[in-house]
Amino acid sequence: MEKVKLPISVDPIKSAQKDLKLDCKISKNLMKRLARSTNSILADIDTQFLFEIDQQKLRIFRGSAKVAVEVTCQRCNEPMIYQCEAKFTYCPVHNQEQEHKLPDVYEAIYYDGNEEINLHDIVEDELILSLPQIAKHAIEDCLQSDYESTFGHLENEEQQHLNPFEALIKLKHR
Ligand SMILES: [Zn+2]
Repeated sequence: MEKVKLPISVDPIKSAQKDLKLDCKISKNLMKRLARSTNSILADIDTQFLFEIDQQKLRIFRGSAKVAVEVTCQRCNEPMIYQCEAKFTYCPVHNQEQEHKLPDVYEAIYYDGNEEINLHDIVEDELILSLPQIAKHAIEDCLQSDYESTFGHLENEEQQHLNPFEALIKLKHR
């Protein structure tokens, strides 16, 4: 079944009162900042949102987003597919005072001018944050032949670390 499109913004209070659940897609063409942060976005974004009122009567929402993107491996410079996955829990706030009072488990999100929150911005921010700082293939998939020498180098370093023990053993056997 074709998923519905994620609304750009919602009223989080009304949504929490209704226990609104969303299981939606966002067109990859709308994620301009994510597109700039990657080589390309490979599919439309899967998103889920669940609005609720917590035990402290705070209106909160939990969400997740995932999509495959292509990035460049920083070790071999070849393209690689990275599965972006983000999970988040937000509590909408109007001001810093509310923000400071929030329990640590929630991230604050500010209402826009229409008393709504922008879901597309949240999804895009969260997906960008989920990108690796330095993208690298798994070692077995990486084409970088230099890896061999890097690995050899690391081994040497490890051996150097072992040297004190070897020296100790030699001492003992004197
Ligand atoms: Zn690579």
